[in-house]
Order: sequence, then structure tokens, then C-alpha cells
Amino acid sequence: MQIINVSQEADYVVRAGKVFDGRALLPYEKTDIIISGGRITAVEQGAGPAPDSCKVFIDLGGCAVLPGLVDCHVHLALDGKDFNRAMDLWPRESLLLERIGNDLRKTLDRGIVAVRDGGDRQWVGFRARDEVNSGRLAGPRILSPGIALGKRGRYGSFLGPGITGDQIEDTVKKTAARGVDHIKVLVSGVVSFKEYRRVGEMHFSPEELGRLVWHSHRLGLRVMAHASSDEAAALAAGAGVDSLEHGYFISRPTLEILAKKGIPWIPTLAPVANQARGRLGEGHTPEELEVIEKTYRRQLKMVYRAQELGVIIGTGTDAGATGVLHGEGLLEEMLLLEEAGLGRDQILRAATASGSLILGLEKELGMVIPGLPPYLIAVRGNPLENLQALENIEYMILPSAG
Ligand SMILES: [Zn+2]
Repeated sequence: MQIINVSQEADYVVRAGKVFDGRALLPYEKTDIIISGGRITAVEQGAGPAPDSCKVFIDLGGCAVLPGLVDCHVHLALDGKDFNRAMDLWPRESLLLERIGNDLRKTLDRGIVAVRDGGDRQWVGFRARDEVNSGRLAGPRILSPGIALGKRGRYGSFLGPGITGDQIEDTVKKTAARGVDHIKVLVSGVVSFKEYRRVGEMHFSPEELGRLVWHSHRLGLRVMAHASSDEAAALAAGAGVDSLEHGYFISRPTLEILAKKGIPWIPTLAPVANQARGRLGEGHTPEELEVIEKTYRRQLKMVYRAQELGVIIGTGTDAGATGVLHGEGLLEEMLLLEEAGLGRDQILRAATASGSLILGLEKELGMVIPGLPPYLIAVRGNPLENLQALENIEYMILPSAG
């Protein structure tokens, strides 16, 4: 994969083959993307000869070009391989940054230009964001909530310190004051791999979650809600969170609320489906494998139902969770969405234009349209015919830093 940085000072003509602009495939066999002043100024049918020499001509040799991809749910504090070993690195600054640097490179290698972190107790993902923003690490854009806010004593001690109901306002304010990009809340525990449909305890009452959302919104922060049962999903939707994460065992009525309120759903299929695959599969009993299989198969069905109801679906991998590797996980998630019955155009839209909307970065990335800076990826073959075309990213075109 080759990264091409475009500067604000020069004018560029990027000649691509087909272009998927984040919403649809453009009707040209050859497409010119004109970039000037660090922004796309036009996307038009590619003309024959190379443009005049005052413009930098980048001929991508017929590659299909699309917006850089978005992963709406990652945990940069974890490595996807070994939960305890990853946590052991947290206090060891240089080893930790080396591990994160590697994972961020793998993320970029897969054409991912933005990730939204789900938080951790030690603010590791947040520090990773600052390392990238300051140019010390190469990586995608990172949005971080710092920690995740959950009830003290319940699931998720590695995600945040745990709070009581009367600490909600204060914690939201203090977390916001540190410069986070959004608030992450734990509405429930996680799905059980031992007992079908069992999900960890609820964290907040409707009144408490309502207050948490209200204070977050008042400070201009969106709320990313981890909710793994229908009860938790319905509570989160009712409280007006800005995205629903996981939502295992979600029901049709709850999906209808998401559709009506325009709350996006990030179904995170990979962290469950991957449990049954590869070496992870050997770590589970046959009974557990059956529970895992039933859980994600049900999720596949509900994803299709969600799409029929017009719910906005986002691609989130939970990368960092055991079994989901940074970078690789996104194509796995996209292939699972295809297994759910979504069209490849819908999946690509989820991973580009919808992803940028969910992250609030729609003025910066997620589409190939005039006005946006160029965050583009180029692949051989046509991902609208075969998503595996995204396995090898040939080029990335990115705005140069500064
Ligand atoms: Zn997560």
C-alpha cells in the first residue's frame, strides 16, 4: 500500500477507474478527481490526455476509488489477541506505544481513515489519539471518549472506574473537560457465551441514563451506548443516545424506535462470530459454540430486519476485543453484513458515508464530493462486485498534515 499525501499548495488531478462516492457508483469508466487547496473541487468524467503540467497528475491505473473506511467501534487499549497481556502493557509507555503504533499502521493498511474508540480505564485510546494528532504516530483519525461510564461494581472495570448515580453530572463534566470527542456509556453488561440470551446486568435506570445523555448533549458531546440486550437497547434508544452499539437480542419494536429517531445501530457481528473461528473456536466447549452460533445468527437476521426498517447501520468491529484484530476486523465485519443479506452498496455506504456521519466527521471524510478534503482509497477490482477487493488497498490519498 502506498500513501500519497496531497499538499494544500498544489493542484492535483487524480485519474481513477470507477468511483464509489460514498453513496453510489459514479457512471464513468474513468473518473478525474480534481483537488485544489487541499480539497476536492470536482469529480468528473476522466478526459483523454494527461492534464497540463501545472497540475500534479496522479494516474491510479484504473483502480476503483472510494472514500477511506470508517470503523465506528474499536478499543485501541486492547490488541485482539490476549486481553491480559494487552493490559499488562498499559503502564509500560514505550512498549504500549510500540504495540499501538503497529496496530494503527495495520488499521491504515486496510484503508481505514477514522476510528471511534470505545474507551478504557487508563485513557490509552485517548493518548493514542493525541499521539496521532501531534504527528508522533502514524494512524487514522481517532475519536476517543477517554473512559467508558458504567455503574460501579458492574461489568466493565477495564473500561472505566465505575460511578454511582449521583456522580453522573460531575463525571460527564470532568470527562468532557479533558477534551474527549464523545461520551461512552455502558447500559448493560456483555452477552454470555454460556447461556443463550443471557446478558450482563443493566447499569442505569431510565432517569439516570436520561440525565447522562442530557448533560453530555449540553456539553456538545454525542453518546455512544453499549447495550447488549433488548431491554438495554430500548432504554438507550428511549434516552436518546446517538448510537447504539452491539444490541444483541434487539427486537423489532426497538429497531422501529431506532428508525424513527434516526439513531444508528452498530451491530458488531465480528466479536461474536469470530469466537467460533480459528484457534478461538478450540477454546470453547461444544455447548458454548452452539450459543455463540445462535447469538450471531440471530444478529444477522436482525441486521437484515433493521435495513428493511430503514435503520442507519454503521460498521463497528470492537477491534481489540479478543478475536478481532485492528485493521483486519473491518473487512470481516463487512463480509458478515453481506452474510446478513445487505447489498454491497449498502455495506460500502455504511463503512463510508454513514460512518463519517456517525462520527460527526461528514464535513471531512466519508465521501468523494467537492468541498471535502481527500481521504481516498484505491483498490484493484470492483468492491461493489466483490468486497474482497478491499483486502488489498493499493493506494491511499490523504491530506498532508498541517
Ligand atoms: Zn466495545
